[in-house]
Amino acid sequence: MRKKIVAGNWKMNLDYNEGLSLFSEVINIVKDEITGTQEAIVCSPFIHLHSLVQLAKGYDKVSVGAQNAHQAESGAYTGEISAKQIKSVGAQYVILGHSERRQYFGETNQLLAQKTDTALKNELKPIFCIGETLQEREANEHFGIIKAQLEEGVFHLSETDFAKLVIAYEPVWAIGTGVTASSDQAQEIHAFIRKEIAAKYGEATAEATTILYGGSCNPKNAAELFAQPDIDGGLIGGASLKSRDFADIVKVFN
Ligand code: 13P
Repeated sequence: MRKKIVAGNWKMNLDYNEGLSLFSEVINIVKDEITGTQEAIVCSPFIHLHSLVQLAKGYDKVSVGAQNAHQAESGAYTGEISAKQIKSVGAQYVILGHSERRQYFGETNQLLAQKTDTALKNELKPIFCIGETLQEREANEHFGIIKAQLEEGVFHLSETDFAKLVIAYEPVWAIGTGVTASSDQAQEIHAFIRKEIAAKYGEATAEATTILYGGSCNPKNAAELFAQPDIDGGLIGGASLKSRDFADIVKVFN
């Protein structure tokens, strides 16, 4: 059975104290109650990472991740953060290829392939995001876009390395818009992603890969989405900023 994961992406929200309070609240609500979900992950801004890792100690189902990492090991890249630095504070995950990074910071599949390599080399597990824009969907290009994001971003990996990834399907038109993909639309793409993984790495790897859905996921729609056979959890933006909402989504698998 593949891992069921609910991950929060706080994006560029919450000051230091607000972040610590929210994380403590989340842990308090979910700590004894995560049964079906194997892992709850919070991907915070860099400033929170070290403290959140400390707060998560003793809760083996709660993990911490970053939202980006540079492709180089180290060097003269003012203002950037390396995978090694993220790993050194005890974070285990890093979101790579979020559509906001692709859109506002020009991150390409080729750059993301490098970032993925560097993250893995430093023993961070990438949560690798893919998804089409509304324009691409309306032009019926979504399958091709997703295939290219996989092929160019992560299909260069060995089977062993690929198995360390979590994939997140986030249709850009559903992010922060209140418009969720219907469970059928999401399932269709998740099944397609799994099929592509199977064609590249074989059935066993495809069956073992956790594929999350992201985009206006909330406590009201999470149960229907997560009930789909190829949806293994969620990557949650807005609703991860409210402890009760995030905890309710974490508990959907229970
Ligand atoms: P929302 O849940 O706010 O739509 O954001 C989704 C997302 O981008 C998570 O990475």
